[in-house]
Amino acid sequence: MKIHEYQGKELLRKFGVATPRGIPCFSVDEAVKAAEQLGGKLWVVKAQIHAGGRGKGGGVKLAKSLDEVRQHASAILGMQLKTHQTGPAGQQVRRLLIEDGADIKKEYYVAALTDRATQQVAIMASSEGGMDIEEVAHQTPEKIIKVFVDPLVGLSDAQALLLAKGIGVPEGSVAKAVDTLKKLYTCYMETDASLAEINPLILEGDGNIKALDAKFNFDANALYRQPEIVAYRDLDEEDADEVEASKFDLAYISLDGNIGCLVNGAGLAMATMDTIKLFGATPANFLDVGGGATTEKVTEAFKIMLKNPKVKGILVNIFGGIMKCDTIADGIVAAARETHLAVPLVVRMKGTNEDLGKKILAESGLPIIAADTMADAATKIVAAVK
Ligand code: GDP
Ligand code: MG
Repeated sequence: MKIHEYQGKELLRKFGVATPRGIPCFSVDEAVKAAEQLGGKLWVVKAQIHAGGRGKGGGVKLAKSLDEVRQHASAILGMQLKTHQTGPAGQQVRRLLIEDGADIKKEYYVAALTDRATQQVAIMASSEGGMDIEEVAHQTPEKIIKVFVDPLVGLSDAQALLLAKGIGVPEGSVAKAVDTLKKLYTCYMETDASLAEINPLILEGDGNIKALDAKFNFDANALYRQPEIVAYRDLDEEDADEVEASKFDLAYISLDGNIGCLVNGAGLAMATMDTIKLFGATPANFLDVGGGATTEKVTEAFKIMLKNPKVKGILVNIFGGIMKCDTIADGIVAAARETHLAVPLVVRMKGTNEDLGKKILAESGLPIIAADTMADAATKIVAAVK
């Protein structure tokens, strides 16, 4: 689960990390009022969307007067902001953050994330923070330094010092940087984050260290014990179909192709998508109905797939283990009737009660194309949508 920058900064502040003062806003008038309330002579108007790269896309602007705050807020609020993380359609801006302008002397990059290879939390840092960190990672990876944290010890002073000195924090600010890194680690651990990134972490003219941006991802499996994080959820930022699917406990991810897939088991779903690709087409979604799919769940899954106008055919690939093929067959027939299915449907089922399942499909009178192997199923659905 992702959250907005202003929410991320709220979390950071709770753990003692310094950030600029700021006020989230939902309208242009609110933005101007927020700037007035903050006072000073320099403000930053920042688009709040669940994607990075906003600066380059025109979603972060400096304002030197209240008039400029109004201008930038009007331009940014409601815009379709396109960044390298939003995809080509971009994301509509519905919230703004108005902040005190910072006196930036140097921009660093710091992040905490889960490193699967070492099964530890990695803390990464770079002297080359700011808007081009992806390029730094690509072209000069040696400029990103990492330490791995022993979970029993936590981020040690020695490790934090290594990072702070390694990225060139000047002597007078090293203690502040060490403190910030340790707080970032604590924040990451206590909120069950899977990514906590501050880019840029800045050195100000007066030697202070501040988080100018905040990007968090949280482990969805831990949300049950993080009610405060769940309260930050913004459904406007999530794919509507994925939100709908999650209500029915369906693991669904939207993709770009035209073949809807309904599969039980994540591994089989991945293999099904690969097979579709191998036979020259592209899946419209990943969908794992899980082990305990009911008729209702299968019907909802069909509805969600068919809402996508790009879907020109559906491939159902079921392995009946705990799940019985006849249950799925009942679900498919009910779903096909309820949704007035008008696109070709190929069904392959193997395993428990396979014969019974096939009989239900054959006797339904629906134009269902039966397939035996995965290759057979993929060949048939690819032919049907062409
Ligand atoms: P991102 O592009 O989505 O990562 O958004 P950021 O919050 O990182 O902002 C992008 C860039 O805007 C930063 O790297 C800074 O260079 C600049 N920026 C953000 N806030 C301020 C500020 O208060 N003062 C100045 N001068 N620049 C800022
Ligand atoms: Mg940033």
